[in-house]
Amino acid sequence: MKDLENLLSKKKVIVFDLDGTIVRLNVNWKNLRNLLSQTFYQLYGERKDFKTITECFNEIIERDDESQLEAFFKLVQDFELRNIENTELIEETIYFINNLEHFGITKQVFLAILSLNMQVTIKKTLTLANLSGKFSYIVGKENVRNWKPHPSGLLKIKDYFGVTREKMIYFGDLKKDVETGMNAGIDAFLIEQLIALVKEKYSSI
Ligand SMILES: [Mg+2]
Repeated sequence: MKDLENLLSKKKVIVFDLDGTIVRLNVNWKNLRNLLSQTFYQLYGERKDFKTITECFNEIIERDDESQLEAFFKLVQDFELRNIENTELIEETIYFINNLEHFGITKQVFLAILSLNMQVTIKKTLTLANLSGKFSYIVGKENVRNWKPHPSGLLKIKDYFGVTREKMIYFGDLKKDVETGMNAGIDAFLIEQLIALVKEKYSSI
């Protein structure tokens, strides 16, 4: 745990995933995948059983169909917002974000989000968690054309802040998030490791 704390003290930009990391969204992802498959079939006449939402978006990108891409973004957004008020907060992550100085992190650090959720969903969720204003930069689904574990989202954040890879760290809840970090050459950890650090601090406060 000391290693993670030591590493954090050297970082300039701390990036978080959203769902499963800061909050738990109340979204029926299976129903959304089914809806995307149906819509895809109606549009392109091809039956696809998308295992992930990203698979669907990759297919649309392959067709270079920017106008349909917008329509699919809208479907995802409507679905994500449906039960937004039932979003669960992940207290330990939120404690960390609100108390960076307890973890030896200076005020010069910037916080950012890299999420597969839509910008509106991310912003509404951060407001629900009383965290709006904490994040200097947000990369949502519609802000990239290659999605995790592709490194483009993390590299976009790197370019925005003009820092080196070594100055960044990414936290997410899935193996895919850690892979995204590896693909970008940026340190990445599962949020459970940060939660363990927060719990350790809690007990010593
Ligand atoms: Mg997640």
